[in-house]
Amino acid sequence: VYKAFHQHHIEASSENLRHLLEKKIPPRIMKILVEAGKLAYDMGFSVFIVGGFVRDLLLGVENLDIDLVVEGDGIFYAQRFAEKLGVSLTVHREFGTAILNLGEQFKFHIDIATSRREYYPYPAALPQVEPAPLKEDLFRRDFTVNAMAISLNPPNFGNLIDFFGGKEDIKKRKVKVLYPKSFIDDPTRIFRAVRFEQRYKFSLDENTEKFIRKALEEKVFQRLSGTRIKEELIQILEEDRPERNIRRMHNLGILKMIHPKLSLTSRKEKTLDQLVDAIAAYEVLTGEKTRRWLVRLSVLLEDLDEQEMKNFCKRYSFTREEKRILITCSSKAKEIAEKLKSPKMKPSSIYYLLEPFPSEALILAMAKIKSKRVMKRIHFYLSHLKKITLEINGNDLKKMGYKPSPKFSYILEETKKAKLNGLLKTKEDEIEFVRKNFGKGDT
Ligand code: ATP
Repeated sequence: VYKAFHQHHIEASSENLRHLLEKKIPPRIMKILVEAGKLAYDMGFSVFIVGGFVRDLLLGVENLDIDLVVEGDGIFYAQRFAEKLGVSLTVHREFGTAILNLGEQFKFHIDIATSRREYYPYPAALPQVEPAPLKEDLFRRDFTVNAMAISLNPPNFGNLIDFFGGKEDIKKRKVKVLYPKSFIDDPTRIFRAVRFEQRYKFSLDENTEKFIRKALEEKVFQRLSGTRIKEELIQILEEDRPERNIRRMHNLGILKMIHPKLSLTSRKEKTLDQLVDAIAAYEVLTGEKTRRWLVRLSVLLEDLDEQEMKNFCKRYSFTREEKRILITCSSKAKEIAEKLKSPKMKPSSIYYLLEPFPSEALILAMAKIKSKRVMKRIHFYLSHLKKITLEINGNDLKKMGYKPSPKFSYILEETKKAKLNGLLKTKEDEIEFVRKNFGKGDT
């Protein structure tokens, strides 16, 4: 059956990319790709690189994820291929995909899937799939620039396959859908369009923009599950500089479709801009990553009151913790910053002011208030105070002759306060402090 496909793609091909491939990927990956083509040929299948990798190759952008599509039984093929390469394979049967585990020394990821068509039984549904020739596999994709392939089959190795004008749209720097109903079938493509447009400094093709507006008028998001919208939002808000993405979503009317009060103002834009430094500072000072999407979202959600915020979190399946953080950020960040402005504060007061709050709220406080003092105090807290712990604990108090009682936590707390204020350095200092302030221990 599959043999019949072999020659078909030559027509759609305008050029050979073998040299470009050789320039961009290391010889041992190149060898794997050549092997991939040979094996497919032997099995009577055809195999292609598809999607984002092809796009980025033509754009000159590094991409380490190689997606292969097989005309034939993709999983069966992947199993044979893994055997041949002597590597293991992770199979996701429900998606008809497999991942070659090439090992750490290869920076590249190779995924293998069966070439398939997709159809949407109703708008925004999860699509039904069945095996189909490459052209249909490419047709189900989001944009022309993501719908190109490179043949790995020995007679045509390296041929670019471009049925839908992807190469031309890369030249024109256009994000263009393959068919008018695309955003109705899968509204998440609206977010992807903005993401690609901003990331590569492309612009939306004129009709594509109309289709987006039309889909929004038809309220397509209402049919989409909360989780899927949330995931798309996260992806956009995690980009390095999401301001322009968000501005674009605001201007296209995407934000207000997610929630009528979700908006971008120039003030919020400024906060988002200042968040870049605040997030960097946090990550350097603590050595921890932060969920920057959450802080950024809290800025966009500023105009929602608490009940609206709760409804929002419910609609989009936020976790309890995420909800708590969003609410705290919007209600407390400013207050924290104001309090931190007061002229004289002991380190322990800074500590107890900031300690109850999630890191996201502190980051937001840094971004919101441009005060050197506030900044310095939060930095001091994150880099120093937050890390202070006592050397002594309840057992040490027992050894010192104190009888266990609720007073223990009071004693330890007072000792910690002294330590925060820089009065105690060593364990001996702590013991000494306890003796001096709480007597012999017969309390
Ligand atoms: P990124 O650099 O963001 O990973 P990518 O193009 O590789 O870009 P993926 O999300 O990994 O993005 O998707 C891989 C390919 O699958 C895309 O290039 C596109 O062809 C196709 N694709 C992904 N999501 C969709 C979608 N919602 N609708 C249609 N095709 C999609």
